[in-house]
Amino acid sequence: MKHNFGAGPCILPKEVFQEASQAVIDFNNTGLSILEISHRSKEFEAVLDEATKLVRELLNVPQGYSILFLQGGASLQFAMVALNLLPENGKAAYLDTGVWASKAIKEAKKIGNVEVVASSSDKNYTYIPKQYTVPADAAYFHYTSNNTIYGTEVFDVPASSAPIVVDMSSDILSREINVSDFDLIYAGAQKNMGPAGATLVIVKDEILGKKGRVIPSILDYTAHISADSMYNTPPVFSIFVSLLNLRWLKAKGGVAVIEQENIIKARTLYDEIDRNPFFKGTAAVEDRSRMNVTFVMDSAELEAEFLALAKERELIGIKGHRSVGGFRASIYNALSITSINAMVDAMKEFEELKK
Ligand SMILES: *Cc1c(COP(=O)(O)O)cnc(C)c1O
Repeated sequence: MKHNFGAGPCILPKEVFQEASQAVIDFNNTGLSILEISHRSKEFEAVLDEATKLVRELLNVPQGYSILFLQGGASLQFAMVALNLLPENGKAAYLDTGVWASKAIKEAKKIGNVEVVASSSDKNYTYIPKQYTVPADAAYFHYTSNNTIYGTEVFDVPASSAPIVVDMSSDILSREINVSDFDLIYAGAQKNMGPAGATLVIVKDEILGKKGRVIPSILDYTAHISADSMYNTPPVFSIFVSLLNLRWLKAKGGVAVIEQENIIKARTLYDEIDRNPFFKGTAAVEDRSRMNVTFVMDSAELEAEFLALAKERELIGIKGHRSVGGFRASIYNALSITSINAMVDAMKEFEELKK
């Protein structure tokens, strides 16, 4: 059995892959593939409708927020957020916690004034800055809730008198959140929600449509809202597979249940990292991510040896991002505790071998 610890596109439940493959051949007994049906057909409308409802239900999204499935990944949101929410003469506040946060900052700077309120780049993004103030006159405050590359996560919503925009690409649906804490949430599907191709946006309607900028329609949230995510052809298959995954999550008991599993999975792995003298966590303990667990060894030689053992034990996708090195185990919703145990066993085995 392969244990897929890849950072994204990520593991999804086996049953989701099975149902998805069936729908590629014959979708809902229509005699047609999900890949060939019209996005305007009543069958696909039902898919989009159910996916939207499940997001609303699973994340408890209040009235007054629209739910969109867009394309372009989280990276397009870096630009769209600023285009839609940053007035010509206003400014936006950003927290810099890693590569993705920096890219969001870089794009926003092309569009308007940006104030970086704090950065953890001084320690290669191994921690989440906490002592900073968001200027009250900021049009919005943007942060990244889970730093996929560095293995840090922001669990408490930062204090901000400005509206909050969050990139939740890699921890969406992994734990309970209070949507009304935020004005805009976005997430590329391929980390924890579905396959690549769709991007989830949850936006408070109230904050849109008053910035006076001319925005190309396809980059305008209001155009997508009035068209119910059908402004242009949506990513049909990606939305469909996301729906299957949302159904799986609901059948499991929802976000509160998966959150408890995720806590246990993360604790099991971090406990071994802390116990085993061959491994060392890279993220500040209080900021450790429950989705991406980063760790290193004392030398490149040891890391190569462990990587070889991991490969033999079918632990896939654990090489760390080039900017951190070492290892990164991404332990998204669909990764089972069995896979965590397989990783822990390999770490123990390595320790025994080296004794
Ligand atoms: C992967 C990732 C992105 C980039 O997502 P794309 O969909 O490839 O644009 C942005 N933010 C975070 C936190 C990510 O993990």
